[in-house]
Amino acid sequence: MTQTRRHFITTSTAALGITTLLPFAARAASHSGDTFKTSAGDITIHPISHASFVMETPAGTIYCDPVGSVEAYAKFPRADLVLITHHHGDHYKPDILAGLVGDNTKMITNPTVFDKLPANLKSKARKMANGENAIFKSVGIDTIPAYNTTESRKKFHPEGRDNGYVLGFGDFRIYISGDTEDTAEMRALTNIDLAFVCMNLPFTMDVAAAASAVAEFKPEFVYPYHYRGRDGGTQDPAEFAKLIGDNTTVKIAPWYG
Ligand code: ZN
Ligand code: ZN
Repeated sequence: MTQTRRHFITTSTAALGITTLLPFAARAASHSGDTFKTSAGDITIHPISHASFVMETPAGTIYCDPVGSVEAYAKFPRADLVLITHHHGDHYKPDILAGLVGDNTKMITNPTVFDKLPANLKSKARKMANGENAIFKSVGIDTIPAYNTTESRKKFHPEGRDNGYVLGFGDFRIYISGDTEDTAEMRALTNIDLAFVCMNLPFTMDVAAAASAVAEFKPEFVYPYHYRGRDGGTQDPAEFAKLIGDNTTVKIAPWYG
């Protein structure tokens, strides 16, 4: 069954105030993003690297798992909200956060990150455990459990500790998986318009598991992300795209340069 396409997507630099038509390489260098038209207003996605990305939204600029370098975020407005899924170094780097967080920045983290935050950052943060929800401005935020289900991988992300998130902008719902396998909670998601789904080994899952879950919860768009792994565990987003049915449009983005 084909799902009705409700949202249109454009690739644009307009959100950054760049209106000149640039050659492709220059647009890539300026972090051009994909803009999704929603009933709540435009949302532009800017992949940074691996698990890190910036979203310009009607509720402000949201950074997800920002790591790397402070310079990588210099082109973007200061974060209104920072979301952190868990404490691993490819998702949480306190020294980078210190350079990104402004006076008015709020943070939402899982409990292990909250407990590690230095005092000056903790005062801006709210701890959210699995299954909790919050509202930031008018954006509904639900935490979705992120964990390994394969016995040999449970040591990486034990159940109950780490977060995925669902953000609601009007009727436009964005799912951010964090580091997880194809859990029952992921498969049970409904009405997701845009999803970020991890895939790498040994830490998360392979393309087959990710594609199977996505085929079940049927987001309108999906970004494969967090797909480089260890010891041959890198997963191929093109392979993932081949496994996805017609219900979902796969967005391949330059997560690794
Ligand atoms: Zn992790
Ligand atoms: Zn990770």
